Amino acid sequence: MIFKATEENIFKASELIKQGECVAFPTETVYGLGANAFNSLACVKIFEIKQRPFFDPLIVHVAEFENNEMARKLAENFWPGPMTLILKKNQNIPDIVTAGLETVAVRMPDHPVARELIKKSGVPIAAPSANLFGSLSPTKAEHVLKQLGDKVKIILDAGPSRFGVESTIIDLSRGKPLILRFGGLTAEEIEKVIGRVEFSQNQQNNIVAPGQLLKHYSPHTKLLIVDSAKSAMRDFKGKRVGLLSLKKPKNKKDFVAVQILSETGDLKEAAANLFESLDRFDVMNLDLILVEPVPEIGLGRAIMDRLRRASRN
Ligand code: AMP
Ligand code: MG
Repeated sequence: MIFKATEENIFKASELIKQGECVAFPTETVYGLGANAFNSLACVKIFEIKQRPFFDPLIVHVAEFENNEMARKLAENFWPGPMTLILKKNQNIPDIVTAGLETVAVRMPDHPVARELIKKSGVPIAAPSANLFGSLSPTKAEHVLKQLGDKVKIILDAGPSRFGVESTIIDLSRGKPLILRFGGLTAEEIEKVIGRVEFSQNQQNNIVAPGQLLKHYSPHTKLLIVDSAKSAMRDFKGKRVGLLSLKKPKNKKDFVAVQILSETGDLKEAAANLFESLDRFDVMNLDLILVEPVPEIGLGRAIMDRLRRASRN
């Protein structure tokens, strides 16, 4: 059920976390499905509810943090916020959370409700996005309800997510920092603080970055990335095609529906609207969604990453 994220309801949710239950809660990236990170049985429930494979590790959300030099520098600059750090783990974190890896993913979210929930629970909260595995990430409480239904007792509602794409994941566990996933914090911002950073292209479903699966974040409707939607339409005459457009398109008439990510083409606004726009297309009974590439700068990288995975069969 959806509950407004009032002081009282955050308290109720924190009691559930303490009892080993899962709750859905807002963060500035997307809505999360959380459980006590120290409690294996509670974390198993996350996998069951999401139908998530056990090889896909969770991010642990904390309200406070101490660690090594590089991690501290990044934490000082970007936490609380949409950045996840992969660090060597210690014994307190059960294997279920990390999929048996020697490393753990840690994030300090910026959303006041998420922070309050973690503080009141008194434990770090392991939480992936609150959606079914592989499906669109939820940027509103309604999206969580639609996908997870009554499997979660409390869905804390605090309106739409500010960023709308997941956190940026930086691996600090092997000497050189490596961006494993583009997200709400841009590569440009990171490089200003720690200099040049490499990014893993993760073009394969490999173990190095578990969960960075090629097919992910997918709408039910087939999605195709094309250089020109107008020319692509020649191949899809008579089909019900939707256009996902970064800004106001010149030509709308070939398409059954058009979703504009940002009237002005602003990448930040576009990221915030991405999953919801795909979700809207999904109820329109379309044959296909077409989308043209967005510039791969700033949040454009995170957007293109999600679109590429969404377009996989
Ligand atoms: P989600 O919160 O749904 O975006 O899922 C968390 C993602 O974090 C996983 O799918 C992994 O890609 C990533 N992740 C979590 N822990 C690790 C780790 N120890 N090493 C590398 N990636 C990780
Ligand atoms: Mg997810």
